[in-house]
Amino acid sequence: MRLFIAVNFNDDIKGALASIQEQLKKSNVHGRYTAYENLHLTLAFIGEYGDPNAVLDALAGVKFKPFNLRLDGMGSFGSVWWAGIDADDELKRCASQVRHALAQAGIGFDKKRFSPHITLVREPGVQVIPSVEIPNVQMTVREISLMLSERGKRSMIYTELGTVLAEDTERTV
Ligand code: ATP
Ligand code: MG
Repeated sequence: MRLFIAVNFNDDIKGALASIQEQLKKSNVHGRYTAYENLHLTLAFIGEYGDPNAVLDALAGVKFKPFNLRLDGMGSFGSVWWAGIDADDELKRCASQVRHALAQAGIGFDKKRFSPHITLVREPGVQVIPSVEIPNVQMTVREISLMLSERGKRSMIYTELGTVLAEDTERTV
């Protein structure tokens, strides 16, 4: 199973990201756009791993406080264009706790430095990111998710396998 740990977004954030994607499309950027329901922020990429319950057990030890994030500009890693994130320091603390918990449990993950970004489009076919208006929306993150990634016919299908709540947060659904 292909697994990763992510922050999933509310519709305010996803709507704002979709509006950026629309602006890019209007500027003739034709790439592989991330589907609305797939927009997310990866905290740690585990990759192939057979035991999601072991991951959830490890994550149960992660303690983090709710944190705020908002969108902050765009950037690129080669042919991957992304929206940046401005967040409380607690986001970084949360990501490092997740990674520490995985390491403690002997669960491998990609060790590249955490560089928070939301992939919007791949292989845009042009070099320069057109100027776009980034909607001023924000979100308080109260949970992180273990995600399963599977290849669908048209795009990836991500499925939430479990969540960890921030401290002092009660489950509402
Ligand atoms: P595709 O690979 O088909 O373009 P995807 O990248 O959305 O689709 P996955 O490769 O399963 O799907 O990746 C899931 C998440 O983990 C994405 O946010 C992706 O950017 C991130 N990710 C994938 N591989 C790595 C890696 N080696 N290191 C860090 N993050 C990764
Ligand atoms: Mg990938």
